[in-house]
Amino acid sequence: STIQKAKIMHARSQTRDGTALNLYANIALADEAFPALEDGAEGIGLFRSEFLYLAASVFPDEESQFESYRKAAEAMKGAPVVIRTLDAGADKMIGEQIELGEKNPLLGWRAVRYCLDRREMFKEQLRALLRASVFGDLRIMFPMISNIEELDAVLDVLEEAKEECDRDELPYNKKVKTGIMIEVPSAAVCADLLAQKIDFMSIGTNDLIQYTMAVDRENAKVAHLFDCYNPAVLRLVKHTIEAANRSGIDVSMCGEMAGDPSAAVLLAGLGLRTFSMAVPQIQRVKTLMARVSLPEAQELASAAMELSAAREIRKLVQEKLKTYE
Ligand code: PEP
Ligand code: MG
Repeated sequence: STIQKAKIMHARSQTRDGTALNLYANIALADEAFPALEDGAEGIGLFRSEFLYLAASVFPDEESQFESYRKAAEAMKGAPVVIRTLDAGADKMIGEQIELGEKNPLLGWRAVRYCLDRREMFKEQLRALLRASVFGDLRIMFPMISNIEELDAVLDVLEEAKEECDRDELPYNKKVKTGIMIEVPSAAVCADLLAQKIDFMSIGTNDLIQYTMAVDRENAKVAHLFDCYNPAVLRLVKHTIEAANRSGIDVSMCGEMAGDPSAAVLLAGLGLRTFSMAVPQIQRVKTLMARVSLPEAQELASAAMELSAAREIRKLVQEKLKTYE
């Protein structure tokens, strides 16, 4: 019946043997949060805030950003809402980035690199996020962190934004969780060092694969090299999950790989428990994972990590997937 279906849809995600999983949604606009909740999302794992900037003809001011973040936080009724700070540049350029005409925008002035050079604008976004943090379980995530100095620098700006909120008597969650994307190989390699300073990390495989394989993620000519099953990519993913787990901080994945059912079993076997994906993938991954036991997933992960070619790993995980369908 529809009632039974609705119950399954809204039951918390878990493996067959009862390991709890968190299946979150990736969204681009605040309006997508409530429908995601209705479709079974257990939180928002990635709110790509740059779409607020890309959609506007003028830069959104603090007030209009605050309204968007508050709306998303409230819509999720206490479930986690991870909002990523402006990730403009590369494939999502804004005004002065376009004007700059970089030779290699993928390796250039994007995300926090840009924001740290536009400190006042960046601080406005952080103030909007802080102010919205009292309306739900809002968490702040920084994209494209590539070294510890950059992490220190963004945390300094956040500290300053907090001081301004204190000064202006604007309430915010003093314990707001802060985290980073792991999407640059240098960050994955040093995940253990970065983990010391934050509450969570989220693996962005779209960029992580691009930068690990030296392949523009939108270039069809070299698309065959863009493969989440490349052993180098998997080693970085495994290393990051283990570093976070050892440091006692949360780790999730919000790149496309997290919503790929064949990858989900493997990732669970590597120790991942939080997956953030496009809303239509959630039910599929949830149904699949309910049929998988943790030891099976771990066995698959061990076997996959022994192989040397992406093609062999893909074959292995896809054959395993068939046994659950
Ligand atoms: C990623 O890089 O995997 C990611 C989730 O961020 P985006 O796709 O927005 O670059
Ligand atoms: Mg990215």
